Amino acid sequence: MNKIGLYIHIPFCKSKCPYCDFYSLRTGEADCESYASAVKSSLQSWAERTDKKADTLYLGGGTPSLLGGEKISRIVLAAKESFDCDGEITVECNPSCVDGDFFKKIAAAGVNRVSLGMQSAVDSERKKLGRIADVKAVEQAINKAHLAGIENISLDLMIGIPEQNEKSLAQSLEFCASSGATHISAYILKLEEGTWFYNNAQKLNLPDEDLTADLYLQMVGFLEERGFSQYEISNFAKPGYESKHNLKYWNCEEYLGIGPAAHSFLDGKRFYYPRDIKAFEKGDEPIFDCDGGDLQEYIMLRLRLSDGLIFSEAKKRFDDFSKEEYIKKALLFERAGLVKTDENSISLTAQGFLLSNGIIEKIIY
Ligand code: SF4
Repeated sequence: MNKIGLYIHIPFCKSKCPYCDFYSLRTGEADCESYASAVKSSLQSWAERTDKKADTLYLGGGTPSLLGGEKISRIVLAAKESFDCDGEITVECNPSCVDGDFFKKIAAAGVNRVSLGMQSAVDSERKKLGRIADVKAVEQAINKAHLAGIENISLDLMIGIPEQNEKSLAQSLEFCASSGATHISAYILKLEEGTWFYNNAQKLNLPDEDLTADLYLQMVGFLEERGFSQYEISNFAKPGYESKHNLKYWNCEEYLGIGPAAHSFLDGKRFYYPRDIKAFEKGDEPIFDCDGGDLQEYIMLRLRLSDGLIFSEAKKRFDDFSKEEYIKKALLFERAGLVKTDENSISLTAQGFLLSNGIIEKIIY
């Protein structure tokens, strides 16, 4: 039986970043201790309902590191106990709230991968994004994680942020490449409705669409040159350091999400917990979203990956899959340099990734 991915949402942040619409509460507004207990109970209850085991665990947020080394370790150990989880174990950390002791504790519990919310290595840009710590703190966090024996480090980077230009992005990229990181997740800023950025977009001095596209391509070229292969629209890794957990999402494999706002795909069903910590702590059931995992969804997710849609794998999974109709549609984009096709696969180029939503929709439907 294939093992699932386990995601645990930690919905606490010190303060709200002005561009973020993830579900999180300010630490002062919540009881982290009772939340950690609720997560443990939920893990136990899910383990009783399914015989599936997990080989990846991802603690995301929010800011999981705000819980401190002890609570994180308790949650990780509970997940290992309930789901035999022994593979890649990642914790998202904010450089402003981690020290050597934190990393030692979580490493002892089995955490072997850390994702650091850097966003930019330029302090003036970091400030605009509401990041509390300066880039020195990011550097120190990496060193401390290394000293604790965690060598698999992912850095978050953002493209298209206020006042960013080729020069400032080059500075961030140089930092990424020389920092000892093994993985970079680089997302283009999206203005999410209801956020401060969304309501004040005119004041932000954001790069326009053309410049943002140039910045994305600059990043792809630079990271490839420095040994980080692009394996997904927004993700780059040194060989062997691709995120095993996130690959489950793009391979349309099963995962279980625990905590408010966490989504799951299990036994062909997609479901989620509402953005309500109280309901989760009370033990309310998640809400059914839709059936999942059909051919269209599989193709849509696979085309996010640099390897793209591999025909032999699609055929193994879907008996009635036939490549011809997809090749025919993909060829229309190949002429424009947005898609590559051969007898084995269809994949998007870096230029194509910039227009991925529209292209993928046209190939599928
Ligand atoms: S970006 Fe991260 S740290 Fe900032 S509010 Fe959102 S979840 Fe919290």
